[in-house]
Amino acid sequence: SKLKKVCIIGSGNWGSAIAKIIGKNVQKLPQFDNEVTMYVYEEIMNGEKLTEIINETHENVKYLPGHILPENVVAVPDVVDAAKDADFLIFVVPHQFIRTLCSTLLGKIKPTAVGLSLIKGFDQAEGGGIELISHIISRHLKIDCHVLMGANLAGEVANENFCETTIGCRNFRLAQTLKDLIETDYFRVVVVNDEEAVEVCGALKNIVACGAGFVDGLGLGDNTKAAVIRLGLMEMIKFVEIFYPGCKLSTFFESCGVGDLVTTCYGGRNRRVSEAFVKTGKSIKQLEDELLNGQKLQGPFTAEEVNFMSKTKNMQDKFPLFTAIHNICAGKLPAAELINCIRNHPEHM
Ligand code: NAD
Ligand code: 13P
Ligand code: CA
Repeated sequence: SKLKKVCIIGSGNWGSAIAKIIGKNVQKLPQFDNEVTMYVYEEIMNGEKLTEIINETHENVKYLPGHILPENVVAVPDVVDAAKDADFLIFVVPHQFIRTLCSTLLGKIKPTAVGLSLIKGFDQAEGGGIELISHIISRHLKIDCHVLMGANLAGEVANENFCETTIGCRNFRLAQTLKDLIETDYFRVVVVNDEEAVEVCGALKNIVACGAGFVDGLGLGDNTKAAVIRLGLMEMIKFVEIFYPGCKLSTFFESCGVGDLVTTCYGGRNRRVSEAFVKTGKSIKQLEDELLNGQKLQGPFTAEEVNFMSKTKNMQDKFPLFTAIHNICAGKLPAAELINCIRNHPEHM
C-alpha cells in the first residue's frame, strides 16, 4: 500500500508519551497507515510479558502508568519485526542502547525510511571525539535522520499540558510531514534547519541538570541555580562554536535550548537523582536503580563522554562546569567543590 507506516523504536517514559500523540495523529492523517508499531524491550511484570500487557490494556504499566495509549499502537518485542515495513522510524531509547539496536536493524529496514531521533545524548567516537546519535543512526543504517528535542517532561506531555518542542530538519518538505505527525493543539512544534545544534542542546542540557541537582542537594538556592543554568547555557554555546561551527545562536532560544534547560533543571530525573546523590552519599548508579524504576539517566554518561573529548583535545578549562559535573558524578570530586570550580569561570574574566 502507499500509506506511510510509522514505527516507534523505544517504549520508555518518553517513547510511550510520544506513542500516544503519534497514535492519535496517524488516525487523522490520510497519508499515514493507522497502525503504529512500537518496539518494546521485553520484560516480565508479575509473570506477564510487558508487550502483552500493553496490547491488552493499552497502558505501559511500567514506564508510563496511568495513561492509555491509542489501540492502534501495537507493542512488538522484536525490533526487526517492528521496523521492517516502516517509512518513518522514531528513535526514542536511552542513548546507551542505540549502537546495538542499529546493528540489529542493519539491512533489515526499508532503504527509503526516514529517521527522527528523540534521543538526548552522544556516543564516544573513535579517536577521542563524540558522535551525534542521529549521525550514528544515519551512518549505520544508511538513512537520513532528523531530530526532535524540547522542554518535554514525558508525564506532562502525556497529561496533555501545553508545551513546545523543536524539530531540527534541513529538508523543508519533509519537515512539514514530521510536524504533521507530531504536532497537536497542546504540543506545538517549531522547525529549524539547524539540526546539529538542536541535538547538541538536547544532549548537553542533561549535564547542566545534574549541576542544578547538586545545587539543590547543597541547599544553595535559586540564585546559585540560575548561575549554574546560565553558565551551562554559555558552555553549551561554546561547545557548538568549537565543535559544530556554523550553527545559529537563535537555536538556543528555541524549546530545545533555554526551554529544556529550565524544565530539566527544575523537574527532570537527572536533577532529582543528582540532588539525592548529594543528600544520601550513595552512587549515581545505585540511586538510578532505587529511584527510577527502570528508567535511565542520560546526564552522567553524557558528562563522561564530553569530558573524554575535552580531555583528549586539551579543552577542559573551556568547560569548567561540565568538567566539574563529570568529576562529581564519577566520585572524583566532592559535590561541595562545584562552586569553587566555577567561581572563576571564563564567562567572568
Ligand atoms: P526511559 O528512561 O524510560 O528508559 C527505559 C527504557 O529503556 C525502557 O523502555 C526499557 O525497556 C528500555 N531498555 C532497558 N534496557 C534495554 C536494552 N538493553 N535495550 C533496549 N532498551 C532497553 O526512556 P525514555 O524516558 O523514553 O528516554 C529515551 C530518550 O528520550 C532519552 O534519550 C531521554 O533523554 C529522552 N527524553 C526523555 C524524556 C522524559 O521525560 N522521559 C523527555 C524528552 C526526551
Ligand atoms: P530527564 O531525563 O532529566 O528527566 O529530562 C527529561 C527531558 O529531557 C525533558 O525535556
Ligand atoms: Ca491514517
